[in-house]
Amino acid sequence: MFRRLLLALFLLAVYPSTRLPAQDFRAQALRILKTVPLIDGHNDIPDAIRQRGGLDSVDFASPQPKLMTDIPKLRAGAVGGQFWAAYVPVTTMDSGPHPAVYALEQIDLIKRLCARYPVDLAMAYSAADVERHFKAGKISCLIGIEGGHAIENSLGTLRMFAALGVRYITLTHWRSLSWATASTDTARRGLSAFGREVVHEMNRLGILVDLSHVNDGTMSDALHAARAPVMFSHSSARALTHHARDVPDSILRLVPPNGGIVMVNFNPGFVSEAVRVYEDSLESRARALRAAGTDSATRRDSVQAWQARAPKATLQQVADHIDYLRRVVGVDHVGLGSDFDGITEVPVGLEDVSKFPDLIAELLRRGWTEQDVRKVAGLNVLRVLSDAERVAAAGNAKARR
Ligand SMILES: [Zn+2]
Repeated sequence: MFRRLLLALFLLAVYPSTRLPAQDFRAQALRILKTVPLIDGHNDIPDAIRQRGGLDSVDFASPQPKLMTDIPKLRAGAVGGQFWAAYVPVTTMDSGPHPAVYALEQIDLIKRLCARYPVDLAMAYSAADVERHFKAGKISCLIGIEGGHAIENSLGTLRMFAALGVRYITLTHWRSLSWATASTDTARRGLSAFGREVVHEMNRLGILVDLSHVNDGTMSDALHAARAPVMFSHSSARALTHHARDVPDSILRLVPPNGGIVMVNFNPGFVSEAVRVYEDSLESRARALRAAGTDSATRRDSVQAWQARAPKATLQQVADHIDYLRRVVGVDHVGLGSDFDGITEVPVGLEDVSKFPDLIAELLRRGWTEQDVRKVAGLNVLRVLSDAERVAAAGNAKARR
C-alpha cells in the first residue's frame, strides 16, 4: 500500500513536466489566434447545405454531428475567415442548370448563409474587411468559385462575378476546359490564348487565380502569365504524396517570385502516400472483381473488408506538408486549405474545423516561432489578397489615364 502511494507521488512529480507542455501548445495556439485571423482557403459547406435541401434544412448555429462545419465548431476552432467554395459540378457542362446559373445560386447561398447569422458571420470582399470583422469578433465569409466552367467562356460573366464579390476562381475542376487543363487529364496542354486572357482579366479585377485542380502545364503557364500573386486554395506537396492534385517542386519554385500562396489540403489521399496508394489499389481491385463477374453483395463485402484495413492519415502528416512547404517555398508562401465538407475522410486529429488550433499547436511543438505560425494561419493570405487588390487598383488607375 505504502509503495503504491510512493509510486503515485513519484508519478505526480514526474508527469507535470512531461504532460503539461502539450497542453500549453494548444493554449498558446489559441492565444495566437486571438491576435491573427485564421483564414482557411477552401470549405465546401455551401454545396453540402445545398445537397441537404438548402439553408432551411440546416441549423448552422447549433452543432451538426454529420457536418465538419457549423458555427459552434468554427468558434471552437478560432476560425477568423473562411473562403466558402461556390462549387460548380462539371456535370453542369452536360445537363441541368447552366454552370453560370449554378455558380450564381451558390454565391446566393453563401450570402444568405452569412446574412442569416449576423452575430457570428460577416461577408468580406477585401483584406481590410477581414481585419475589420476580426476586430469585431466576427468570422469573415469570402467567396471562391470552384470551376472556371462557371464563366462559360465569357469575360463579361467573369466581370459580373467580380462585381458580386468573388475573390478567387479555381480555373478547372476535375474536367478540362477548352482554355485550361485539369490535373486529372492525361492531356499535356496548358492555358490557351483565351486562358491567358482570363488570367489577365482576373488580375485586373482583383480575383485570385486559383491553381488547385489544374495540371502542371496550366500551373506553369498561369504563373508565367500572372501579373498578381496566385493561390493554390487546397493543394499539398507532391514530393511527399504523389497525387496529381498536389503541387510538384518544379512549380513550387515559381511561387516565391510570384508572391503567391500554397494552402495545404487535409484530404487523406493528398497528405498520406500510404492512403493514396491504398485508394488507387481500391479502384483497380473493384474493377478486377467486376471483370471477374463477382456479384454485387460479394463485391460490397470485399470493399468493406478492405476499408476496415485502410491506412489513416494523421494531423502530423498535414504538419509534415506544412513543414516541407516552408522549407521549399519559404514561410511567407504557405497557408491552410482544409477542404472540409468536400472531403469524405479526414486525418486523425483533424476531424473538423474545431481542430485548427491542434494543428497550430503541432507546429509550435515542432519549434515554429509565433510569428511564423501567424503567417501560415492568416497573414500570408491577407497579404496575397491585398497585393491582388493593389495590382487591380494600379491597372485601373492606368486605364483611366
Ligand atoms: Zn476541390
